[in-house]
Amino acid sequence: MQKLAIDGGDPVRPRILPYGRQTIEDDDVAAVVDTLRSDWLTTGPKVAEFEATFANAAGGGHAVAVSNGTAALHAAVYALGIGPRDEVIVPTMTFAASANCAVFQGATPVFCDIDPGTLLIDIDSAASKITPKTKAIVAVDFAGQPCDYVSLRQLAASQGLKLIADACHSLGGSDAGKTVGGLADITAFSMHPVKPVTTGEGGMATTQDGELASRMRQFRSHGITSDHRERESKGSWFYEMVDLGYNYRLTDIQCALGITQLRKLPLWLDRRRAIAALYDRAFAGRSQFTPLTKRNGIVHAYHLYVIKLDPSALTVDRAQVFAALRAEGIGVNVHYIPVHLHPYYRREFGTGTGLCPVAEAGYAHIISLPIFPSMTDADVDDVVAAVDKVIGAYTR
Ligand SMILES: *Cc1c(COP(=O)(O)O)cnc(C)c1O
Repeated sequence: MQKLAIDGGDPVRPRILPYGRQTIEDDDVAAVVDTLRSDWLTTGPKVAEFEATFANAAGGGHAVAVSNGTAALHAAVYALGIGPRDEVIVPTMTFAASANCAVFQGATPVFCDIDPGTLLIDIDSAASKITPKTKAIVAVDFAGQPCDYVSLRQLAASQGLKLIADACHSLGGSDAGKTVGGLADITAFSMHPVKPVTTGEGGMATTQDGELASRMRQFRSHGITSDHRERESKGSWFYEMVDLGYNYRLTDIQCALGITQLRKLPLWLDRRRAIAALYDRAFAGRSQFTPLTKRNGIVHAYHLYVIKLDPSALTVDRAQVFAALRAEGIGVNVHYIPVHLHPYYRREFGTGTGLCPVAEAGYAHIISLPIFPSMTDADVDDVVAAVDKVIGAYTR
């Protein structure tokens, strides 16, 4: 057996392969430079153009560009009128922002558990957390796999709740033949560099409801009724601040980048799916770990490729496997520490161990492997070789 790099052996890769990475090409650079030379650096024609093309790619309706995915979630909570004394149900296996958005508006996130195979929201667990104070459910398309929106919409409708989709992983995915972006009351996307398309930082909120869209447009610009460009075109100075909003605007520079990025999304999704298929094939029949299970009837966006270790088949824990893979030059990661275990939520909301046992058990054994569009087949081979080398050395 080869000596592991963590024990002083030669690593599979001399330089670390990241788990995710942006793709920036000449057309992206040219679009940004053109905008830098134009009249509008922020809230100009590129914002509207990007919103229109994004809405098209994300199930139709309206798209509202904001400064990041967290702002998109915040705008959603605001637009749906959620506030103090309200509760919002959030699966705990997610990035903290999925829950923080409720806190921003004074509401209380109530954490629910997840399905052990997919790590997606457990709809029965969500239903069990509903109280008279519950106003909304946040569904998170973990790893790029869309949730069961048919059941989620049924639950929300039967209980009079709003449905927010955190689709920061799943742009380009679909559930039951319907594109992510039009499956919930409001859907939030992120354009952080590791996400499906990037604008550096950036976010988008989509909705089929024009009223919600205009509330979010106002919210992203201080709660003011018109933007600078509208006033300019009318030759008017008058505006009113009608509600408390933020400066959550996305610049024209960033939207120019988003437009060229979005054109390449179908190609990049194909590549992500091809990489996932290579992993699936390479790892079929392994007993020491399994990839996450896939729901029937979905189209996966593969933001992440997550494996779950079987602790009974291994001599070491996840931390050791993680460190050994890093030593081999594979930039593995862990998504996510359950949100209810973070010190802030323990302190401010009294959450803690035992609240979501399936998520806590899942968290202890998951590892995210590299997956991004510019990864080559040789990169995939390196990951597979490193996983086999490390898992082989630690098999019980
Ligand atoms: C990235 C991400 C966010 C936040 O997006 P930002 O653009 O980083 O603010 C929210 N939820 C999930 C699930 C994410 O992955």
